[in-house]
Amino acid sequence: MSAAAEPKVYGWCPGALRPMMSGDGLVVRVRAPLGKLSAAQARGVARLSDEFGNGLLDISARANLQMRGILEDAHEDLIAGLRGLGLIDKDANAEARRNVLLSPFWSEGDDTHAITANLSAALTAAADLALPGKFGFAVDCGETPVLQDTAADIRIERSGDSLILRADGSETGKTVTRESAVPEALALARWFVETGGVTDGRGRMKPHVAKGTTLPAGHTTPRIKTGFTAKPGPASAGTLAALEFGQMPAATLAQLAVYGDIRLTPWRALLVEGAASLPPLPGLILEATDPRLQVIACTGAPGCMQALSATRDLARQLAPHVPAGTRLHISGCTKGCACPGAAPLTLTATAKDEFSLIRNGTAADQPLKTHLSADALRAAPELLTEGS
Ligand code: SF4
Repeated sequence: MSAAAEPKVYGWCPGALRPMMSGDGLVVRVRAPLGKLSAAQARGVARLSDEFGNGLLDISARANLQMRGILEDAHEDLIAGLRGLGLIDKDANAEARRNVLLSPFWSEGDDTHAITANLSAALTAAADLALPGKFGFAVDCGETPVLQDTAADIRIERSGDSLILRADGSETGKTVTRESAVPEALALARWFVETGGVTDGRGRMKPHVAKGTTLPAGHTTPRIKTGFTAKPGPASAGTLAALEFGQMPAATLAQLAVYGDIRLTPWRALLVEGAASLPPLPGLILEATDPRLQVIACTGAPGCMQALSATRDLARQLAPHVPAGTRLHISGCTKGCACPGAAPLTLTATAKDEFSLIRNGTAADQPLKTHLSADALRAAPELLTEGS
């Protein structure tokens, strides 16, 4: 891609049945039911990744597992393998509709678990519901919501003693019960479509609400605003392990499965059920003080066809120099996939090993400095913060 070219916006997310081509082969995204892989499923996915892909697995911002480097002519065999593991939907449309994220801290039979199971089944069956590709649901009914900073269009979350159904972008929601939550959520999804939320197959709830569309009756219960930051270490239901740049070798997943079933989280981390501690394994970050937790870097070159430069080696090298409490985002182009919002520090590639520096902005915002070479940044990391 030339430096002047605009990154391509697809407006849909890859699935397993509808993969996307990338710089290193097909990206096949597995939407595990209840965001969980049993130990046997985890070992099976790791084996298939090594057999049909490049042995690298990503975890997406919607807690899906992404198999990379899949050869086009191996896709069918891979799907057969995944189907054998119980990880494939009945068709690509059902897979796309079943876009449900749940708090990874659920327990068997609690509200989060029961509502997610029912909502997933209802969405699978709702063949007439034409939602945009990126439109998703979040089920977050634990004592304290943990997904409020994670993208979702329709939320079912706890508000004190009640459950509320909330359109993303609204500060109030409709009080629901475990039984009414799913039909009400589907009704809100239909309301979104019927009130013009979808244009050319695209649309998100937040801008639809922001433009003043009147919500259906009953959306009057205030939400309780929470802040949550996931940290590696012991957590409810197991131990959280962060992944460096959200990626790990398939062998790491197989080895983790020795310690328990795996829950996928939207925080570039896995929760290993029942594990009190985990061993150091390639790609894992187990300490909350690890400087790599302060850097975010997209796939970059060569894995992404749109990337103007590699990103991750530079991110690793600059991580120890990022001031405590701040974050550095390194993006292979202005699209900013790894961090769509503003970050305190952003380096956006403009050519091979050349970056612009943006402060308190997104990868596409006006840069403060341009033509910074990767070598210059490595030699003088203070370039990131000088004058601030
Ligand atoms: S931001 Fe990174 S991953 Fe996204 S399109 Fe650009 S180079 Fe590719």
